[in-house]
Amino acid sequence: MTDRTWSHYINPTVKAIPPSGIRRFFDLAAEMEGVISLGVGEPDFVTPWHIREACIYSLHKGSTTYTSNHGLLELREEITKYLGTQGVQYNPRSEVLVTVGVSEALDLALRTLICPGDEVLIPTPCYVSYIPCTTLAGGVPVTIPTSMEDDFRLTADKLEAAITPKSKVLLLCFPNNPTGAIMNREELLKISEVVAKHDLLVISDEIYDRLTYIGQHTCFASLPGMRDRTIVLNGFSKAYAMTGWRLGYAAAQGDFIGAMTKIHQYTMLCAPITAQMSAMEALRHGKTPMENMVAHYNRRRRLMLQGFKEIGLPCFEPGGAFYVFPYIGDTGLTSAEFAEALLLEEKVAVIPGDVFGPGGEGCVRCSYASSVEDLTEALRRLGRFLKRRNIT
Ligand code: PLP
Repeated sequence: MTDRTWSHYINPTVKAIPPSGIRRFFDLAAEMEGVISLGVGEPDFVTPWHIREACIYSLHKGSTTYTSNHGLLELREEITKYLGTQGVQYNPRSEVLVTVGVSEALDLALRTLICPGDEVLIPTPCYVSYIPCTTLAGGVPVTIPTSMEDDFRLTADKLEAAITPKSKVLLLCFPNNPTGAIMNREELLKISEVVAKHDLLVISDEIYDRLTYIGQHTCFASLPGMRDRTIVLNGFSKAYAMTGWRLGYAAAQGDFIGAMTKIHQYTMLCAPITAQMSAMEALRHGKTPMENMVAHYNRRRRLMLQGFKEIGLPCFEPGGAFYVFPYIGDTGLTSAEFAEALLLEEKVAVIPGDVFGPGGEGCVRCSYASSVEDLTEALRRLGRFLKRRNIT
């Protein structure tokens, strides 16, 4: 190394990845007292007790080993049963891979599919990992901005317009982070026609599928002709309040899962056995506690929408996840300026929409995975902030 710094040795692709825009706000908020954070994309519930108990029991039994690279077969069977209820059948032995969160599944799916220069179509605003993970896999992210006028849904026309001969993958996320947008079956069917016409593959991140408040979630792989073109990603972090357990999965045609497993076996080996045991309990007996949490989120969603209406902040009605994405463009501030001023003046942390890619500027993401008391107080402070600026 002699007189050279580390920076000289670091892979330029890694060097070029910008730091997370969310991090900056967390760091700023962490230095202040009395902050109400609507910034975190994480359930405020503790994992239901019966799931924690299953974990304790598994440890008592001495389950402390590696598992099969694919994950415990019993867990894969529960996963395929669940996906069966979503209208798509998979073979638990060859078509499911248990991963360290959806995060690992996403990274594996991209690395398994992408050859240098392949284009990945990403409707935006999108989850913050999609663009950097695509770049790290050697792909070229092609963003497709959605807008409030379209309720942040992807339209077939917008998708068609973004396709080039290099397009290989469409990366979908409905219910969406950060907008809370959902897409119904008819709308997804139109997308699936474009996918088939252009011979695209789809990575469908359905981590928020249980958190749907309007209509029924449609699993993209359940649409005609889409099963063998789609890699479904899902996990336990959001539906079962299990973010810290780090467990997710991918389901797809067997050859593809086999290829993903090749990377997984050399990098992760397997997902943690305790988390796998606990996830089995979640799928077997977790429906009622999960539905209770979802009912709470739905009440808070309504509270936020009513609150925004009262203080005069335009907001489209999100049908899923636990985010609202109000429009703050009328304040004359950019979303970063708005978030910073709100934090410094009123100690409310929200995430500026621009960190989620094109189409996000002009809005801020507010998570309602917080107590009703905190949400009510945050709305009061937000109202005061707007009034002071003569905006409402
Ligand atoms: N996908 C989306 C859309 C998310 O919002 C998140 C977390 O916020 C993840 C994936 C990561 O999930 P996991 O905790 O399973 O890695």
